[in-house]
Amino acid sequence: MLKPEYQPEKIRDRFLKNQQAYKKFLARAPLKKGIPKLAGLAQEVYARHDCLSCAACCKNYSPRFKAPDLKRISKYLGMKETELQDLYLKRDEDGDYVMKTAPCAFLGPDHRCSIYEKRPSDCQRFPYIDEDVFLKRKELTLKNLSFCPIAQDMMEKLMER
Ligand code: SF4
Ligand code: SF4
Repeated sequence: MLKPEYQPEKIRDRFLKNQQAYKKFLARAPLKKGIPKLAGLAQEVYARHDCLSCAACCKNYSPRFKAPDLKRISKYLGMKETELQDLYLKRDEDGDYVMKTAPCAFLGPDHRCSIYEKRPSDCQRFPYIDEDVFLKRKELTLKNLSFCPIAQDMMEKLMER
């Protein structure tokens, strides 16, 4: 049983309740004031979360597997890049390689990532709360707010200030 704060329906309810406020804040995001605060606030937010209790991102969405990711991961798995592509990946509408299946094929039943040390850059950066994209890429951030409690906490902390 997932802790309440990681239950998908609770996360969805929190998003629906705050969606308009998130949108309003993002529409007028104070970039000059907000961006320098991201790194410090992100540390506080990450410290109070346990992604192994959640894994909603790995269960439902695929990272992009960019060229350096393909090179690094195929080497780690001892296979050719073409084998990695054929076994696990497909092209998305932007031409990027993404997982064929959801949950991600590298996600274990204990929510651990079997390629954690070599995981794609998108996975290392997600949910981008310490990067300017969190305030600048509004559509992406709104999508992430719909299922990620870390993104929700970060947004609400920024809104408080
Ligand atoms: S990054 Fe967000 S969605 Fe992914 S496991 Fe952590 S809390 Fe859950
Ligand atoms: S590669 Fe690892 S971290 Fe990335 S989505 Fe798959 S299981 Fe999650």
